Amino acid sequence: MNADLHCHSTVSDGQFAPADVARRAHAHGVTLWALTDHDEVGGQVEARDTARELGMGYLCGVEISVTWAARTVHIVGLNVDPSCQALIDGLERTRSGRAARAEAMGEQLDALGIPGTYEGALKLASNADMISRTHFARCLVENGHCKSTQDAFDRYLADGKPGYVAHRWSKLADAVKWIQTAGGEAVVAHPGRYDYTPLEFDALFGEFIDLGGKAIEVVTGSHTPDQYREYADVARRFGFEASRGSDFHAAGEGRVELGGLPPLPSDLKPVWERWL
Ligand code: AMP
Ligand code: MN
Ligand code: MN
Ligand code: MN
Repeated sequence: MNADLHCHSTVSDGQFAPADVARRAHAHGVTLWALTDHDEVGGQVEARDTARELGMGYLCGVEISVTWAARTVHIVGLNVDPSCQALIDGLERTRSGRAARAEAMGEQLDALGIPGTYEGALKLASNADMISRTHFARCLVENGHCKSTQDAFDRYLADGKPGYVAHRWSKLADAVKWIQTAGGEAVVAHPGRYDYTPLEFDALFGEFIDLGGKAIEVVTGSHTPDQYREYADVARRFGFEASRGSDFHAAGEGRVELGGLPPLPSDLKPVWERWL
């Protein structure tokens, strides 16, 4: 089993259309796949149909942006019904502030002497509703201001950097509820990326469990190998099931290819076993 349950298409901030991500996942040996675009399920039917044609297992997915304790957390939903109205409405509300936020980011970058980034990012976003920091990062690279998208985040776009605009996403309880209402399981995405204290992490995981959350990502393209071990221990301590996903966005961006991660530690229960 080569499960890759986290990646992106042009429906959010990925480079390839859903059908092309499906073909790429299949070509790289993925046997169970989920496309998890940010705050949008518009690519799910195309992804599922293409996976079926290829004979590759598929779970409908989504990655929801949440604000918890003044910071952004991502919650992946797996095996959701993409036609669930509660999920669709919740995601639409979650997306709704992106346009104004992007304009504010553009104004901040203008003030730093970097003009035209909002317009450039908008052109790169195939889905204008889903304009994201990734599109700004790619634009800053194209315009020669940064040497890589990582460099763009490190210097301008990460929390606390001069191009960052704080944003209020959805509530953890709402995101988990929409996923559950759509018949899916909620998974805390890449916990190693969050800048919480140990006490805050315990509170986050405790609240997630109280809401019915059962799983976290352990082996993800957004973790270092040290973090695979650290969050495997967290999964053991809290009794979480574990998920695995590349968080693939684009060729040459990020650390890993679709299907290219090591397996989960063998003592952890994979979240996908319930659907096999
Ligand atoms: P947004 O939803 O607009 O805030 O954009 C979030 C996206 O930016 C994430 O899904 C990643 O694709 C990317 N991202 C966030 N932080 C970083 C980072 N430190 N380095 C590289 N990419 C990042
Ligand atoms: Mn992304
Ligand atoms: Mn994420
Ligand atoms: Mn992601």
